[in-house]
Amino acid sequence: MSYNHVPFLIVISAPSGCGKTTLLRLLLEKKLDIAVSVSHTTRPMRKGEVSGVDYNYIDVVKFVEMQHAGEFIEHATVHNNYYGTSYAAIDTLLGHGVDVILDIDVQGMKLLKAKNNYDFVSIFIMPPSLDVLEDRLRRRNTDSNEVVAQRLINAEEEINQAHFYDYQVVNDVLDKAIIDLSAIITAERLRSFRLNNNI
Ligand code: 5GP
Repeated sequence: MSYNHVPFLIVISAPSGCGKTTLLRLLLEKKLDIAVSVSHTTRPMRKGEVSGVDYNYIDVVKFVEMQHAGEFIEHATVHNNYYGTSYAAIDTLLGHGVDVILDIDVQGMKLLKAKNNYDFVSIFIMPPSLDVLEDRLRRRNTDSNEVVAQRLINAEEEINQAHFYDYQVVNDVLDKAIIDLSAIITAERLRSFRLNNNI
């Protein structure tokens, strides 16, 4: 007997400093037939980022144009920049038969839930505590005290909404968090309603 499942979306959200980027990188290295959707954004490209890989970088005019044309399944303003997931980005990947990770914020997850036109599972990445998060943000040493303080306020607001998600994974020990994420994905792939059983 072999199992295969209908591909679905995996929404992953985390406050800044929770280690989401590292978690996603390690998860992808496990080659689980997962792809990450590439969002559109109006924020400037950061050093080391690659256009079309990290984001599709567009200006505000183009973003609003796409928004009016109904090209985004969800979009949000984060830290004064626009971000959006296009239908094209996810449909192409789902069409390849892989499960698709959406690295989006809480606003985006809620919009997706309200639209209810895609099968998705949502996972919120938790820091071990706010103290640990503050420590991680300060140790990054890339942001001023004001920015760190603002990120902590935002983090608290997002953590207060974690209960809207199907799952919460604490990123304390990286290896354990990866095991938890992989277990969620495996279990969700085995949900009866997603299976095409060829017995
Ligand atoms: P960054 O600019 O640091 O890459 O991302 C900032 C925030 O925007 C993160 O929380 C990230 O999850 C979120 N984000 C990235 N792409 C999208 C998107 O397409 N839609 C929404 N709603 N949030 C996004």
